[in-house]
Amino acid sequence: MTDLLDAARDLDAADPLRAHLDAFADAPGVIAYLDGNSLGRPLRDTAEKVAAFIRHDWGTRLIRSWDEQWMALPMELGDRIGAVTLGAASGQTIVADSTSVLIYKLMRAAVGAAQGRTEIVIEAGNFPTDRFMAEGVAAETGMSVVWLEPDPVHGVTVADVEAAVSDRTALVSLSHVDYRSGALADMPAITDAAHEAGALMMWDLCHSVGVIPMQLDAWGVDMAVGCTYKYLNGGPGSPAFAYLRREHQGLLRQPIQGWWSAADIFAMGPSYEPAGDIRQLLSGTPPVMSMLAMQGMLDLIEQATIEGVRAKSLSLTDLAVRAYDEALAPLGVRLLSPRDAGARGGHVTIGHPDFREVTQSLWSEGIIPDFRFPDGIRLGLSPLSTSHVETVTGVLAVRDAIARRS
Ligand SMILES: *Cc1c(COP(=O)(O)O)cnc(C)c1O
Repeated sequence: MTDLLDAARDLDAADPLRAHLDAFADAPGVIAYLDGNSLGRPLRDTAEKVAAFIRHDWGTRLIRSWDEQWMALPMELGDRIGAVTLGAASGQTIVADSTSVLIYKLMRAAVGAAQGRTEIVIEAGNFPTDRFMAEGVAAETGMSVVWLEPDPVHGVTVADVEAAVSDRTALVSLSHVDYRSGALADMPAITDAAHEAGALMMWDLCHSVGVIPMQLDAWGVDMAVGCTYKYLNGGPGSPAFAYLRREHQGLLRQPIQGWWSAADIFAMGPSYEPAGDIRQLLSGTPPVMSMLAMQGMLDLIEQATIEGVRAKSLSLTDLAVRAYDEALAPLGVRLLSPRDAGARGGHVTIGHPDFREVTQSLWSEGIIPDFRFPDGIRLGLSPLSTSHVETVTGVLAVRDAIARRS
């Protein structure tokens, strides 16, 4: 297996983005961090930036900072996420709340605008929060949920969606990259299929933002949400973002109509009038400190370009699949991600009945992948912070941990 490590060293030496590996903070004792798709690492200079924020922006400018910079931050940071990663022109993306809350707001808004339509189409294997929100919104509005049951490895296809939508469909809500298998959905074609039926299309970008290039404007996407603590390295619980296409703003109404979404925040008027622009998706005071860390990561992605990030991601996941073939397939480990690189996102999932115990033993030795019920390990390869050697080291450690158990 030394040839796998040699191949990894060669790929690292030729990696045009290798200098960025040094931008991330050291984690003593961690040999391979393969969970950047769940919680991205902090940048080296994040600690200093947070300290400077406390000393200066908050500590000495005090409440004046709201006027000087914080009021506009949810919109400015949204625009930046839109420009660097989403293919979204300004004024359509906002940073707020959590992904779960933004899913609720947008689903409820979409369903509220669906005249006479009665169904929400969602995938049975989608992330729990997405499914639970669809169930809640359906119960609240008297709609029904139509469940797609696609192939668990290859994910939702255009044909799956075409077979499920009709003139009853209000909203189709899907994940761009499947959180378990890593399957990458065909966003433009599926969005077209939803539109053919007259439905709105919402994408959950949690596992694709910051690793997969996309063109939300050009592809006609109506609405999207995503996390910032995964491939955007915003830190635990950093707020999410929502994209709402400009033509829908002012027409759709989100349900949590707090003062930050009002036409004039400081009018303190007797009744509610929503802002006509993207700000209407806000509710209350935004978590300013939690918006700091992701800004450095957006700078890095901009320098590397999202296409460059995707190229490195493909190189990492290809190597992970090759290492799986050589080191793990012979031990009976199953590949639970698409083999075709173009059909995958940024992580590779493998399965084995012993993986719960294997993951525990790997964590204790500084190899950190992510266990997913019932018996999957996700190798989350965050392109700017993960090397090819780290990837192969992780796969070989999985092999050794299985071998030790038998
Ligand atoms: C991580 C993830 C979430 C998380 O939602 P939170 O509100 O941030 O907890 C939601 N949807 C998908 C698809 C995810 O991968």
